[in-house]
Parts: sequence; structure tokens; C-alpha cells
Amino acid sequence: MIRLPGLIDPHVHLRDPGDPQKEDFDSGTAAALAGGFTTVLAMPNTRPPLTDGATLAAARTAARQRARCDYALFLGGGPDNAASAAGLAPQMAGLKLYLDQTFGPLRLDDLTSVRAHFAAWPKSRPLAAHAEGRSLAFVLLMAHLYDRPLHVCHVSRRDEILLIRSARERGLAITCEATPHHLFLSQDDIPTIGERRAEVRPRLAAPSDRQALWDNLAVIDCFATDHAPHTAAEKDSEALPPGFPGLETALGLLWLAVSDGRLTEDDLVARMHTNPRRIFGLPEQPESWIEVDPRAAWEVHGARLNSRCGWSPFEGWRLPAQVRRVMLRGRPAFEAGQVLAAPGSGRDLRE
Ligand SMILES: [Zn+2]
Repeated sequence: MIRLPGLIDPHVHLRDPGDPQKEDFDSGTAAALAGGFTTVLAMPNTRPPLTDGATLAAARTAARQRARCDYALFLGGGPDNAASAAGLAPQMAGLKLYLDQTFGPLRLDDLTSVRAHFAAWPKSRPLAAHAEGRSLAFVLLMAHLYDRPLHVCHVSRRDEILLIRSARERGLAITCEATPHHLFLSQDDIPTIGERRAEVRPRLAAPSDRQALWDNLAVIDCFATDHAPHTAAEKDSEALPPGFPGLETALGLLWLAVSDGRLTEDDLVARMHTNPRRIFGLPEQPESWIEVDPRAAWEVHGARLNSRCGWSPFEGWRLPAQVRRVMLRGRPAFEAGQVLAAPGSGRDLRE
């Protein structure tokens, strides 16, 4: 049995409030614990989106009642909340800016509002952006002009990882994350997953893009799942909501890379604990760890996972390692396939 620190996922969508048929803090944090995560940072594109004090209060109430692992909440940058957002900064995981197409209404289209957020959000608090292609070049310039750190979400393409690498070589304080699905899937997998179910943002990229992520592993600070559940029925409908669940398959997938020598255990702990903890300024969780059996292979069946969405893009994949036990603040939170932590036992790490 291998003992690792509790994993931190800096990018999850728990759909609470608004869409309990997809997920909520209860089912989403149960999935997190089953996947070895003791901390999740939740994204703000809920219904309604988390953009002000009132929506923060509602999300906090939901999380306080239902979360089984520790968490912090992101605030969404909207077209007119830059000034008020800054006042909420100490209570938030960070500010999330959406520069490109995503699920929900939080996309920023104009230069004025993006500049306002870069100017107002405190430099000492995390700022994260969904910015693909040319939008990435734009936010890197903004980070440079406003002389502040920026975390780039779910980097998926060769051009993007190379651009981030150049920015870092020039001394910019840019950090970034990559998802297991962009590290292990490409456009070639779309027929197997199914066209509708394979809809995700950023889209699955070319095999050469996937390889470029592995070739530039040193530039990738965090592995983040971007757990974005929609029910199988919703995925199969005309609406095509983009997103994959990922909390329960992430560690097993990454262990494939440990098994074939592309990653070391130290690489994994750096990207799933140490770096996200540093980048997002998270406190230590005392008496917390996970136990992983590296010789307990299992097969992914979406319907058997804790996530309420009931499917996985990795259906049928055989993964080499399994989480056996999760200890959170001295108490077993997951053991022998059962989530033991009660709803409401998770803590808001910004409170
Ligand atoms: Zn996301």
C-alpha cells in the first residue's frame, strides 16, 4: 500500500445550486473522496452563477450542509462585478474568468471587463482563466501588464503549452493545469466515446497535442480533473452540454503513466497536492492522507461510480491502481469502497 497526501483538485463543477440531477455537493464530494481527493475547488458556473454576495451565501449554505470533503469556492468574473468581486476575494478560492465558450453564461467577450478584473482583483489572491488559443495570448499579456500571477485552466494544445513555456521563460508568474482526459484522450477516441458524449471544452485535441502535454510536463503545475458532470440522457440529447466527469478516474489514469515510467510518484504528488496547495494558498489538513493499492486493477463502469451523472468517457478502461482508504483530519472518510464522511463534514478552507 502506498501512502500519499490527500489529493487536491483545483477545478471541479459540482452543479450546486441548480442542477442536482447532474451532481451536488453531496454526490460530488463523495466522488472526490472515492477518487482520493480531500480538497476540491468548485467552479462558479452554477445556476445561478456565483458572482456576488447573495449567490455566495446560497452556495455556502449548500456546501455547508452537503460537502463531505474540504473545499473552497471560486467567484465568477462577470461583465459588471469587478469592483464588488474584489471585496469578496478573501472568502474565495479565487476569481475565474471565462474567455472562451463554456457551459453557462459566464463568458467575458469585451476587453473592458477583462481589464477591469485584472485591475481590481488583489494580486495576492488566485486568478484563474479559461483561455484557449488567441485568448491565451491575450490573458498572458494582461498578466504581464498588470504584473500579477495567473493560473491557466485545462491547457490542451501544443501551441498553448509552448506559449505558457515561453511566458515562464520570460519570467511571468504563470502556472497551469492539464486534465487527465486531455493527457489520455484525443480526437481519435471520439468514435468510441460517441460524438455527443465526447463534447467537452476545451475539445479533445489531436494526438500530437496530447503528446506535447507529455513532452512539456515540466511546465504543467497541476493535474485538475475539470470534473463537469452531465447525465447520460443530457449528453445524448440535442442540447450537447460539454463536459466529462473525472474525479473517480483521475488517479487510476495517472497511475497508468506511473506504471509505464512517464511519471514518478513524486511528479504525481507535486501536481496533485504540493503545487495546487501552494498556488491556491490552501492550509495543511492535519492527520490526512490516502492509501493507494498500486496492484489492484479495476475496470471503469460509469454506472457504478459515486458521481450522479452515471457515465464516464473512460468506460471499460482498465486502470492499475485503486484508492483503498482516505483519512481526513484523523477520521476515515473512505474505506473499502464506501464513503464514510457524512454530508456537512467538509470544511470551507476560506472560512
Ligand atoms: Zn471547467
